[in-house]
Amino acid sequence: MPRTCENENCSNPLKGRVDRKFCSVYCKTDYHYQKRKESGKEYFKKTVDDQLRLNRRILRDYNLAGKTTVRKTELLNKEFNPRFITHWWKNQEGDTYLFCYDQGFKEVKDNDKQKYLLIQWQDYMNRQVF
Ligand SMILES: [Zn+2]
Repeated sequence: MPRTCENENCSNPLKGRVDRKFCSVYCKTDYHYQKRKESGKEYFKKTVDDQLRLNRRILRDYNLAGKTTVRKTELLNKEFNPRFITHWWKNQEGDTYLFCYDQGFKEVKDNDKQKYLLIQWQDYMNRQVF
């Protein structure tokens, strides 16, 4: 069976060395460009969307009561990533809470331990403008 160019948009028959994968330099460059584009989409989908959802799920699981504190390391061990947030909210005291959808968190120190104070989004937060 004759081997063909591995660029799906081409499929020209290959001649020459057996380890050749592409009929031309163009096909080789184009192939790798397409692959990078595809994996780039994959990366974006996985890290942003999935991480936000995972963050929200972790926060909700720890915050069934609506307000609580939890060890920072405990959340990080569950692959919580505080760099991925949907928005933030500042209360009247100037404390900023970071949110993943309806679940919010803020870093606090308690007996020299790093903790997160967890809260849930409330309707009145929409009405405050700073
Ligand atoms: Zn080709």
